[in-house]
Amino acid sequence: MSKYVEQVLKDVKARNADQPEFIQAVEEVLTTLGPVVDANPQYKADAILERLVEPERVIMFRVPWVDDKGTVRVNRGYRVQYNSAIGPYKGGLRFDPSVNLSVLKFLGFEQVFKNSLTTLPMGGGKGGSDFNPKQSPHTPGKRCSDREVMRFCQSFMTELFRHIGPDTDVPAGDMNVGGREIGYLFGQYRRLVNEWTGVLTGKGLSFGGSLIRPEATGYGDIYFAQNMLAMRGETFEGKKCVISGSGNVASFAAQKLMQLGAKVLTLSDRSGAIFCADGITEKMLKDIMVLKTVKRGELADFAKKTKSVKFFAGKNSWQIADKIDAAFPCARQNELNGQDAEYLLKHGCTLVGEGANMPSTPDAIAAFLKAKIMFSPGKASNAGGVATSGLEMSQNSERLSWTAEEVDAKLKGIMKAIHDNAWEAAAKYGHKGNYVMGANIAGFVKVADAMLAQGVC
Ligand code: NAP
Repeated sequence: MSKYVEQVLKDVKARNADQPEFIQAVEEVLTTLGPVVDANPQYKADAILERLVEPERVIMFRVPWVDDKGTVRVNRGYRVQYNSAIGPYKGGLRFDPSVNLSVLKFLGFEQVFKNSLTTLPMGGGKGGSDFNPKQSPHTPGKRCSDREVMRFCQSFMTELFRHIGPDTDVPAGDMNVGGREIGYLFGQYRRLVNEWTGVLTGKGLSFGGSLIRPEATGYGDIYFAQNMLAMRGETFEGKKCVISGSGNVASFAAQKLMQLGAKVLTLSDRSGAIFCADGITEKMLKDIMVLKTVKRGELADFAKKTKSVKFFAGKNSWQIADKIDAAFPCARQNELNGQDAEYLLKHGCTLVGEGANMPSTPDAIAAFLKAKIMFSPGKASNAGGVATSGLEMSQNSERLSWTAEEVDAKLKGIMKAIHDNAWEAAAKYGHKGNYVMGANIAGFVKVADAMLAQGVC
């Protein structure tokens, strides 16, 4: 490993010892940058890596709100404004009890490279709260009501609004932050600043949202995989695919795979995984989407009512099917470990396309790279969501709405550009076919050069 990289990594570990996810994300990127930093001594002279591993700003705040029983609840809110060298901070908000500074710094760090890869002028940021919309604070086993979610979102925005803006920081959704939450957050922002601007993306279509934004991350993941397959002269027709998650990314990845003639064998959630040997049908997927976004239920409930699926309580999607061509982790970080990777490889898997952020553990990634299968890291293959958010920002600025076909065509073009840039960067530094290395280098160089040009700041 490059001596410079080694030293920076050592310092990151010492300074952030209590932030395992952040250290994991930094290590994954930095250990691939040796060839490019050694070839460009100016990066070391200007301490580019040392600056990249520190967010520009971290905002942490109290979020008090009143539940349906009249009890005051207090959550913690965050916004990590990670790097704005190439554009305003851009990245999602996550509401989940697992949210802490380590998780948000890892996500913000990843977002910097991802946004750079999209070819659009967007810096990186991430935020959220430890608020759990899936568990009512007063009734075990019940979710927060819509009104509780609204009051929480309004309180969250009452602090966040002073730190964001259409040319400063443009948040979007992430885990547990979908159309409902973005609507409440946007309403409160508009009320506070008395101005209509595209300060959030993922908005509803009636108030500035972009067509294809909900589909974009899942579709983009599959478009990226199509590009990988095309390099080997293959298509998705007849391929058996396993997907984890059943939220936004997973469900639209499944929809696109079905449209391309693949069979989707599994989906999962916190309750467990469903398996359908003949492939999940379009009708089943539609029902699952309604279950998840309207009824806000669990796959366990779906399995009880659907005879043709098997349910594996508490399991993820990896170690179920006998024959697997491709796997798409689309739920959460570190959800696919070394053993899962061995199982997938043993059962025929030749393509893994990460839809979630950092879903594969380092030993799983090492196994995929060793086996030389097609493996795309999330920062490249899930960039379609933020890219389409960038398109939503452009439409808001122009006061125009593009058609679904126009947005989809642009998304496809962006995913191809990301694929080709990652491929070419890997080849240039002697690691042909290694998309991890290629994506990290291509994402890094643009940001690093912008930082060099702007002086020490
Ligand atoms: P989502 O709609 O909230 O879906 C998340 C899915 O993961 C749900 O099926 C959820 O199950 C499952 N899950 C979460 N925590 C879990 C746990 N501890 N154990 C088992 N299953 C768990 O979120 P999303 O927007 O699809 O995001 C999924 C991933 O993609 C995240 O890593 C996110 O950062 C990344 N991503 C999202 C976007 C985007 O545009 N949405 C863009 C780029 C990257 P339950 O339904 O049971 O909670």
